[in-house]
This record gives sequence, structure tokens and C-alpha cells, in this order.
Amino acid sequence: MSTLEQNYQRVTQRLINACQQSGRQPGEVRLLAVSKTKPADMVERCYQLGQRSFGENYLQDAEAKIAALQHLNEIEWHFIGPIQSNKTRPIATHFQWVETVCRDKIARRLNDQRPDDMAPLNVLLQVNVSGEPQKAGISLADIPALAQLIEQLPRLTLRGLMCIPENTADEAALAAQFAHMKHAWQQLQQQYPQVDTLSMGMSADLELAVAQGSSEVRIGTDIFGARG
Ligand SMILES: *Cc1c(COP(=O)(O)O)cnc(C)c1O
Repeated sequence: MSTLEQNYQRVTQRLINACQQSGRQPGEVRLLAVSKTKPADMVERCYQLGQRSFGENYLQDAEAKIAALQHLNEIEWHFIGPIQSNKTRPIATHFQWVETVCRDKIARRLNDQRPDDMAPLNVLLQVNVSGEPQKAGISLADIPALAQLIEQLPRLTLRGLMCIPENTADEAALAAQFAHMKHAWQQLQQQYPQVDTLSMGMSADLELAVAQGSSEVRIGTDIFGARG
């Protein structure tokens, strides 16, 4: 078995265990394989193992891979990096999901640039749930206004929320941040029934995030190895 295959099986098993420990069905939580900086052939091998959703942060790197892997019919690309307003067109053209929307202007541009012959672009709002000043994302209080704007944009579909919590070993602090996200997400769902995605949890906090209601975890290094 290759290293990639071993890693992939270990991560998928870890996710299954986390779901079982939380009384959840394994299929309730999507695994997003974060393939940033990794070559297209590695993504393809991971696809052959059964993985379908891949996360990318860097546009140039991602565009080349997406072009090289067009023959993989069921592949689904998620943009999870910071978005500069002059870079919205390639995101709107090449991705099925954008998880890092946190400004009105970016939302409007993605809507205007989404090609008519593609399905609407699935959008998550990035929330700065820890309130760290240097971190991207809107505050919990700003969710309703941005959600309302996106709801009015026909080429975007609001699917939920995403966060990168504080980088801390304090499990109680992390659990509280995840719980805030879950609460905000449930409120959003009441208003917008198509909202079904809560993207939270990475390698270090996967179990905690799943226990707190995550519907998508984002894992890079533990699948593809360290980035050079
Ligand atoms: C890189 C990245 C990940 C994955 O991080 P790893 O440490 O490689 O598992 C998850 N989410 C976001 C937003 C990232 O940028």
C-alpha cells in the first residue's frame, strides 16, 4: 500500500470513528482533502481511492491542476484561501464552492462573473469566530446582513458557514467557538432552508469539531504529507 493510500485510510477511519463517538452517521460529515501545493497526479491518485472533494488556496496552483484533471467527472473543487477582488473571475469560473466569502464586494463580483452555463456557485461565509484582529472573516453579528445579500444574488447559493478557530490547545475554548458556530448555523438554516454545510475542524481538532456538529472537515497534511 502506498503512503498516500495508508494516510487516506487512516484519515477516513478517524472520521468514521469520530462520527460514531458522537452518535452521528459517517456520511453526515464530508471530508475535504486540502491539496494546496500538491501535484495533480497526487490529487488524481487520491480521487482513485474514492475522494471527490478537494480544497485549494492558491489560484495559479489550482487552475493548472483543475485544467489537468478535467477528465475526472465527479471531482469537486472548493476554494478555501483569501480572495483578492482582482482574482474573483478564475474562482467564479473554475470552482464549485467558495468557502471564504467575507465581503459584499467579493460576493457581488463572484455573482457577476459566474458563467451562465454553470450551476450557481456554492458559498460559505467565513466567520472569525475567535475574534482575533489579524484573522479574516466576519463577526457572528455580521452573518445576517451578508447572508441576505448573497440570497439576492442569483448566481450564488448560500450553503453555510466556515471557520478557522483559534490556534490553541485549550479544548474548552475551542469547543466554545465551535458551539457558537453551530448555533449561528442553525439560526441561518431556519431562515434559509438550503443551508446544509458547516465547515469546521482540521487535523488537530477533527474529533472535537465533529462532536460539536461540523458537517465538513478540512484535512491536508495528514492525507498528502507535509508541504515543502
Ligand atoms: C491548509 C488548510 C487546511 C488544511 O491544513 P493541514 O494542516 O494541511 O491539514 C484547512 N483549512 C484551510 C482553510 C487551510 O488553508
